[in-house]
Amino acid sequence: MLRIENLTKVYPDGTVALVDVSLEVPRGQFVAVIGLSGAGKSTFLRCINRLVEPTSGRIWLGDVEVTGAEPAELRLIRRRVGMIFQQFNLVKRCSVMTNVLSGRLGYLPTLPSLLYRFRPEDIADAKANLERVGLLEKARQRADTLSGGQQQRVGIARALMQKPELILADEPVASLDPATAHVVLDELERMNKQDGMTILCNLHFLSLARRYADRVIGLKAGRLVFDGTPEEIDDARFKEIYGEEAIRVEVA
Ligand code: ADP
Repeated sequence: MLRIENLTKVYPDGTVALVDVSLEVPRGQFVAVIGLSGAGKSTFLRCINRLVEPTSGRIWLGDVEVTGAEPAELRLIRRRVGMIFQQFNLVKRCSVMTNVLSGRLGYLPTLPSLLYRFRPEDIADAKANLERVGLLEKARQRADTLSGGQQQRVGIARALMQKPELILADEPVASLDPATAHVVLDELERMNKQDGMTILCNLHFLSLARRYADRVIGLKAGRLVFDGTPEEIDDARFKEIYGEEAIRVEVA
């Protein structure tokens, strides 16, 4: 469902973030992208929906080419792709419900000043998605009164409003404690296994990748240095991805 060919990103200041990355992801896979901080994981995910503009290379979502898509077509593509962020990206002073409903508008600039007008079916959908993540009773609360884990579950409910085929999750649990991280990743797993959504998820910890992913992509200094199953990552491969000096810090 996703095909990436020779993707390279050089930022305007000359930083080379991705070098010639090629990969295909079949529908329904849960792919963890791992690597050190600065390896290019976030850039990689953001190139897929062109939140970051690739420097060269081509990307297809199904039969549609993402690279080179005109703004109107890009909007349609982005509706098929849900995004979940490390810092949740909720509109803090809006209610949980409004944040979830804003998923209908896509994830691109959601101004709190927008006059929201939603159809009854959107509101019913938003309630169902909040119930799904266990937060229906918080619907009227301001988003910033929720804990980090709850805010991320609101972020998931918002992404679900798009009924996306593909979810890009950019370090979705990096700001959360280990127990809460599992609650959030369990929900992503449910979206993958029950609803058949394809998931690309940047993860800092290999232990989480092992627990949740069907496939692991390792990035190092912008290059794809590993592509395989979690079981294939032995000590040698671990060092290849994280470097010789890496200290193996793992969470439960
Ligand atoms: P990761 O998600 O693995 O931590 P990133 O994709 O955020 O890696 O960053 C990859 C490299 O690109 C890093 O060297 C980072 O400093 C650089 N980078 C990220 N965003 C920008 C930007 N907007 N401008 C210049 N360099 C950037």
